[in-house]
Amino acid sequence: MSALVASDVVKTYGGTRRVRALDGVSLVVDDGAFVVVVGPSGCGKSTLLRLFAGLTEPTAGAVLYDGESVAGPSRERAMVFQGFNLFPWRTVRENVTFGLEMAGVGRAERRERAAETLALVGLEADTDRYPDALSGGMRQRVGLARALAVDPGVLLMDEPFGSLDARTRATLQRELIAIHARERTTVLFVTHDIDEALLLGDRVLVMTDDPNRIVSRVDVPFDRPRDDDIETTTAFVDLKRRIRAIFRGDAPTVSE
Ligand code: ADP
Repeated sequence: MSALVASDVVKTYGGTRRVRALDGVSLVVDDGAFVVVVGPSGCGKSTLLRLFAGLTEPTAGAVLYDGESVAGPSRERAMVFQGFNLFPWRTVRENVTFGLEMAGVGRAERRERAAETLALVGLEADTDRYPDALSGGMRQRVGLARALAVDPGVLLMDEPFGSLDARTRATLQRELIAIHARERTTVLFVTHDIDEALLLGDRVLVMTDDPNRIVSRVDVPFDRPRDDDIETTTAFVDLKRRIRAIFRGDAPTVSE
């Protein structure tokens, strides 16, 4: 079963200078898969996620979730942003329960769900703190817990670790891999970082700009759980070189 499908999607933004943010993008994300879109800034990654989140509409083409056209936001499709997007006046718990409140879930169940997801991201001791008092890594854990709290069918992750230092980023990448292995939530993750794409994904979709399209689809051959030193292996380095060559335009593009 395919959780997410984009079929020949075009998205243009209006104004005097029309921007073709997506110029004929098709992709399929199977249920339970971890798919990463990698591409340079401006190639349309965020736009693609926003379409799946139901935050914007395609100019042409189809965007489907679970076989149905996406018609707006839903708790089935939870977004995690780079900038955390936490409410500063709400505690960690209150941030995590926000989506549940919106969905009309009762207080007791909200607290229980918050406790479960905060334990999943290692923040069980911080439930009553405010975002201001947290490090960047902790804030992003709250963002992840908030997304998971609504028990979504899919996580849409927009460069969620982009603003973190290298060590925190590596820790959160490992945690996300563990959460995905445990919960089997479908993940569509976007990044401009090839290492991150290969570390996390079962499949990497390579996007380029001008035009903003997917030009290659790479199946990542590494077993899970992946070793900590996988980045130093020849297979990893070779794959990374291949993707770099695609960006430079020196490699043949591959499609499904
Ligand atoms: P990425 O996430 O890969 O950096 P985006 O999806 O943010 O790419 O942007 C793709 C293109 O669309 C860029 O040229 C960007 O400037 C443009 N764009 C994105 N959002 C808007 C918007 N709301 N209005 C006008 N142009 C936009």
